[in-house]
Amino acid sequence: EILIEGIEKTFGATRVLKGVSIALREGEFLSLVGPSGCGKTTLLRIIAGLETADAGRITIGGRDVTRLRAADRDIAMVFQNYALYPHLTVEQNLAVPLVMRRLSALERLPLLRHLVPGQAGRRGAIATRVREAAEMLRLGHLMQRRPAQLSGGQRQRVALGRALVREPSAFLMDEPLSNLDAELRAGTRREIVELHRRAGVTTIYVTHDQVEAMTMSDRVAVMMEGELLQLGTPRQVYDDPCDLSVAGFLGSPR
Ligand code: ATP
Repeated sequence: EILIEGIEKTFGATRVLKGVSIALREGEFLSLVGPSGCGKTTLLRIIAGLETADAGRITIGGRDVTRLRAADRDIAMVFQNYALYPHLTVEQNLAVPLVMRRLSALERLPLLRHLVPGQAGRRGAIATRVREAAEMLRLGHLMQRRPAQLSGGQRQRVALGRALVREPSAFLMDEPLSNLDAELRAGTRREIVELHRRAGVTTIYVTHDQVEAMTMSDRVAVMMEGELLQLGTPRQVYDDPCDLSVAGFLGSPR
């Protein structure tokens, strides 16, 4: 599970997070919504370890990670501007996080170049894990393509796959669909829900799209100006908004 306790952050004169606390259950899918600038991305970056909080604590799977570096937190993050390696195939792109984690720089390149399924030892283990992730995201038939030969939605699936191969204990996604057109968005939204169902990884999903939040999540957290205003199931939050600003933001009937 993920425990977020009393997170505070100030940039210059701006208090961006004013003591945010959220407790996520193991395997839960939580959407984090709120108006632009309310602090969603900052909170996500603090959970990921890409930014340090001024106060508060982050616990993941019972382990206090507040002082750990991003690389040691066992978290995968997917952004809207996913960057795939253009010169590597889909298969190699999927293998990068595994190869990076286990090998020195000198060992990495030849392994990526020669990555083929079924080899013995470490390569075999990496290839197996890559194949599993590819199957889960239906990328099996695209393994030998390069990013330029993929559609936007396929590229986003590779980015998701790359986050998945490491078998993280938490997934953080920051508006991962906002670069896709409407049709791809709907399809990829279903992919993410399905992926979550199968992989069962605790997920925090930042979106400004209320429909996404309502349809994908177990619970929705509504933030305004650096504070958590409401936390509940999509129904609870929509039917019974705690105040007018939440109602206005979610478009609830008043
Ligand atoms: P959006 O939905 O537009 O992405 P958000 O809710 O994710 O917004 P944040 O990106 O967390 O909001 O930003 C919250 C506030 O903190 C904003 O006022 C932003 O300008 C400010 N901010 C974020 N990062 C920094 C930084 N590195 N230095 C100074 N101010 C920052």
